[in-house]
Amino acid sequence: MYLPGNQPPSVSSPMRWFTATIRLLIGAACPILLMPPLLAQHPAAAPRERTLLLVGDLMLSRSVGARMQSANDWTLPFQQIAPTLAAADLAYGNLECPISNTGRNRHHLWSFRADPRVIEGLKLAGFDVLSLANNHVDDWGHPALLDTQRRLREAGIRTVGAGANDLEAHYPVLVDLGGLRIAFLAYVNVEPKESTAAPDRPGVAWLEPERVFADIRFARPLADLIIVGLHWGVEYAARPSRDQTELAHQMIDAGADLVVGGHPHVVQSLEQYKGRWIAYSLGNFIFDQHDPPTHRGLILKVSVKGKQIAGVTPLPTRIDGSYRAVLAPAKEKRQEAREAKAPVRANSPGTR
Ligand SMILES: [Zn+2]
Repeated sequence: MYLPGNQPPSVSSPMRWFTATIRLLIGAACPILLMPPLLAQHPAAAPRERTLLLVGDLMLSRSVGARMQSANDWTLPFQQIAPTLAAADLAYGNLECPISNTGRNRHHLWSFRADPRVIEGLKLAGFDVLSLANNHVDDWGHPALLDTQRRLREAGIRTVGAGANDLEAHYPVLVDLGGLRIAFLAYVNVEPKESTAAPDRPGVAWLEPERVFADIRFARPLADLIIVGLHWGVEYAARPSRDQTELAHQMIDAGADLVVGGHPHVVQSLEQYKGRWIAYSLGNFIFDQHDPPTHRGLILKVSVKGKQIAGVTPLPTRIDGSYRAVLAPAKEKRQEAREAKAPVRANSPGTR
């Protein structure tokens, strides 16, 4: 179609008539030249690519906190990895401890509470969203949990999966990356269940399947992508249970685009199900446990083209002797990335 209005205003009328005639003649012979001139000169831009980096469990208390204190450097765990994380369009992780100087130690089996100065490191690493849906965020009670949320919010870091009441804990966190709308939801089903939020009580979002499906359906029209973070599974188990694989599949059937898990302290497989990805456990990202498998983690690199996930790449990491997250050496990295993408094999029921 020829559009006279697309001609530059400086072209005189006879010239415009001449040009139009020539275009019509050429156009009759070659339909492709009938494209409006504006479109021909500026082909539709390729869908924009974005990178999301998702990591596993971050524990910034106990020996990790003591090391930062003795080095007088509250960014220490992130010094090496910060350039990688901060270069992404969005970084997400599971914060496995309150960050506060208030509250009362509830003396869970292990009680964690990190010094508020650790937020410097989280900012350096460029974290955008942190899940609080885990079995440690309530170690120092509701005041510390709410203080953690407040401090992170003031640092520009969103939190998901916990809140002042169960509505807030279940409400999706919506992030708009220049027109790409991502909804985050996060849940935990690791004891203590008493940390669960209620209509009149702060706490975490408990992983109740029917409620999770309802939350996903609620988020669906609000977002282009829905990412569900789960704190679940059996500590140190090499594989997810069959119950977990079934539940993850049901979440995708309900509308989730990506499911990422943590808590086992070791890395488990990735699985592609109906074109969507599930990372059952990303392992430890920052922690202070002793066994070598607990020093390994995965950064899940998620490539988004336009409004869809185009692919995921596992980037294996290590926790070094100073509790710093570092990318694994190249040779080991290739091997572990292959292992992570091996077909998922669930443990049979009864071995949980
Ligand atoms: Zn945990």
